Amino acid sequence: MTNLKPLEPHDIISSGIKPTGVLHYGNYFGAIRQYINLQDTAEAFYFIVDYHALTTLPTPDTLRVDTFRMALDWIALGLDPDKASLFVQSDVPEVTELAWIFSNLLPAGDLERGVSFKDAKQRGDTPNAGLLNYPVLQAADILIYRGSVVPVGKDQTQNIEIAKRIANRFNRRFTSDKPYFHPPRPWVIEEVAVVPGLDGQKMSKSYNNTIAIFEEPEVLRKKVMAIPTASTPLSEPMDPDSDHVFSLIRLVGDEETVSSIRDSYLRGGFGFRRAKEELINLLESYFADARERRDELVAKPDVVRDAMVAGAERARVRAQETMRDVRELTGLNWKNAAR
Ligand code: ADP
Repeated sequence: MTNLKPLEPHDIISSGIKPTGVLHYGNYFGAIRQYINLQDTAEAFYFIVDYHALTTLPTPDTLRVDTFRMALDWIALGLDPDKASLFVQSDVPEVTELAWIFSNLLPAGDLERGVSFKDAKQRGDTPNAGLLNYPVLQAADILIYRGSVVPVGKDQTQNIEIAKRIANRFNRRFTSDKPYFHPPRPWVIEEVAVVPGLDGQKMSKSYNNTIAIFEEPEVLRKKVMAIPTASTPLSEPMDPDSDHVFSLIRLVGDEETVSSIRDSYLRGGFGFRRAKEELINLLESYFADARERRDELVAKPDVVRDAMVAGAERARVRAQETMRDVRELTGLNWKNAAR
């Protein structure tokens, strides 16, 4: 079970996802499911980080379309714009000002050691300065809304650590009595901290091993049927714990179903083909309701648009309050010098 420190009354939830490509099961179980659970218990800000997406150099059309599609998917999945502020990052441009201020609080070397930047270099890419500065903008994303709890998958814990370091440095440098920012903490659910992909590695767009939440049925079937499995003869017992099909079954099946499929694996005479059929059925039914809601929203894009605009207005009020305080604390208020 997870070992999370319970929420405190001052806690504010804040987290975002890049609109690059489509949402996959890793995004849902690692992040969005927690967003949905937390929206009932605390004030929450969830944003689609289109400034961050620029690091991947999308075409303007792709960026627009992917951003809108993500908004639609979020609401279809159960994120509720009446409970949490849902919005697009660039609708609150103050966040880039805070990122600039924060970038002076961190040695450049800390950013060179950032996972995404290091990975890109190891792959032989020439990462841009946006990717280098990514964690600073992420810290601004969280802290501008005074966020202190960040639901994410395990891959993000290093970045949240940087945000925590920045909050502490800001407090030390610019406040004397009461710290201004609450150092944020990651909210990682152990069981789904790293959701495996079709090949057993972490599911990720970069590894091309994803199953999209709203995958077309034929594509879903093809992807599942292509999952590599052991060469156990049909009559013999199969090992569920080393099997990629079973790890996905465990993700989407209820306890009873999972335990009965597990028994079938251990009994033998079951076969990976049957296991894959079971998985396809489970994947299809898991998001059937969301799929229906999504179809409805596709026909009413204004509902999505209006919800995102209203969310941005609420978020911007909070961001502007924070920036007024931050400008005051950092001395970016020269007009007060003569007073
Ligand atoms: P990707 O790795 O596919 O580019 P993102 O970086 O956009 O995904 O991730 C968005 C959110 O989803 C983050 O909170 C991240 O931690 C979470 N996430 C992504 N992949 C996984 C995974 N395989 N397991 C758990 N959480 C994940």
